Amino acid sequence: MFDKVLIANRGEIALRVLRACRELGIQTVAVHSTADADAMHVRLADESVCIGPPPARDSYLNIPAIVAACEITGAEAVHPGYGFLSENARFADILTEHGIKFIGPSAEHIRIMGDKITAKLTAQELGIPVVPGSEGGVNDIDEAKRVARDIGYPVIIKATAGGGGRGMKVARSEADLEIAMSTAQSEAKAAFGNGDVYIEKYLEKPRHIEIQVLGDGKGRAVHLGERDCSLQRRHQKIWEEAHSPALNAHQRDEIGSRVARAMEKLGYEGVGTIEFLYENGEFYFIEMNTRLQVEHPVTEAITGLDLVQEQLRVASGADLAYTQSDISFSGHAIECRINAENPTTFAPSPGRVDAVHFPGGLGVRVDSALYAGYRIPPYYDSLIGKLIVSGKSRTECMMRLKRALSEFVVEGIETTIPLFQQLLAEPDIIDGHYDIHWLEHYLARQA
Ligand code: ADP
Repeated sequence: MFDKVLIANRGEIALRVLRACRELGIQTVAVHSTADADAMHVRLADESVCIGPPPARDSYLNIPAIVAACEITGAEAVHPGYGFLSENARFADILTEHGIKFIGPSAEHIRIMGDKITAKLTAQELGIPVVPGSEGGVNDIDEAKRVARDIGYPVIIKATAGGGGRGMKVARSEADLEIAMSTAQSEAKAAFGNGDVYIEKYLEKPRHIEIQVLGDGKGRAVHLGERDCSLQRRHQKIWEEAHSPALNAHQRDEIGSRVARAMEKLGYEGVGTIEFLYENGEFYFIEMNTRLQVEHPVTEAITGLDLVQEQLRVASGADLAYTQSDISFSGHAIECRINAENPTTFAPSPGRVDAVHFPGGLGVRVDSALYAGYRIPPYYDSLIGKLIVSGKSRTECMMRLKRALSEFVVEGIETTIPLFQQLLAEPDIIDGHYDIHWLEHYLARQA
């Protein structure tokens, strides 16, 4: 096992990784921007290094500064968390060149999955079902029309370099197609510096269901079940649960083992998530994330595994400690992403946190880097904490969530806690009857 790991991230995920390291007896190095000098991850780490000014491109995305921080402190490995450099193949390559272990898959696998067209083709070759669509990239409008006629309207134009729900446009008929194409291309070019797009059948009422995998990079992999992340605003998840209210054990085993076999064929190392849309009993691959996900705690709650410790183990060269039959699922878990935002307008609400009180008790976990007196900087994303509840059944989780939200206090800023309280009163949420459009429709009705 490593002696010292550098955590190239901030906020709740930096703390999450730090906790896993500490339980394994690993020394931790925090890095931070000048805006984060007082952050909790800096306070709790064994050592810390300032890597630049507030903007992320000058600090948390500053590869030379992070490599220098490893060299100064003697860190042998880097945990990238999620976001920032976690899916940056060049960063993985540079670390390798410096003899530092990137805690994650190979740069090659990050590259394959980071380009959605290549990812889709690879998934298909590995036996994973994909959304019907173009064979690869689509360059001109005539080709787009041919493809769209073939698969049938509505279609969605997506950026191959896409992420964070950007660069996606729906076309309901041929009349919409030209504008959708050019908007998606220019949005993609502006956001990712790559205007390549591809076309998919637009699914009208799917759920977003994703499979968690863990591989040792030596040809062994297991799946850790699914998460349902259908409650989304602007294609961003806000609530995740395991298991999905829509799947039975047989369906889970079937898609899970198909994905685990595919990851074995690929020789995948570390944790990863294969995302699907699920409609009328069928799964359609949309993308793979080659990192730890924000919503990993719901999987931890139903499997009893610490996913970050598993990442550290396989990164240090250990074999997988489990076969599929060693993995068992128990109970249910739900996560709410709590943001520093106005709960109706979603306008960011940075500033000083005057007081905080986290809920507790059986089956309640809060992953957060907040403390009283902390100033939330305006430079980074607005996630300030994750509330995860677990219990024997979904019904128990819903009651526990209601109870935990009522105990949760954050004073001085606005948070999205009231939104979750409202959602818990909605019959569709209580019954688990929601698809990826449910929340947008609900918010439109409230407005
Ligand atoms: P990103 O990498 O930007 O998050 P994804 O490909 O993961 O993009 O898609 C994000 C979300 O966009 C999905 O969870 C779903 O809500 C919606 N979406 C993507 N592809 C389709 C599709 N073919 N049909 C309907 N909705 C889609």
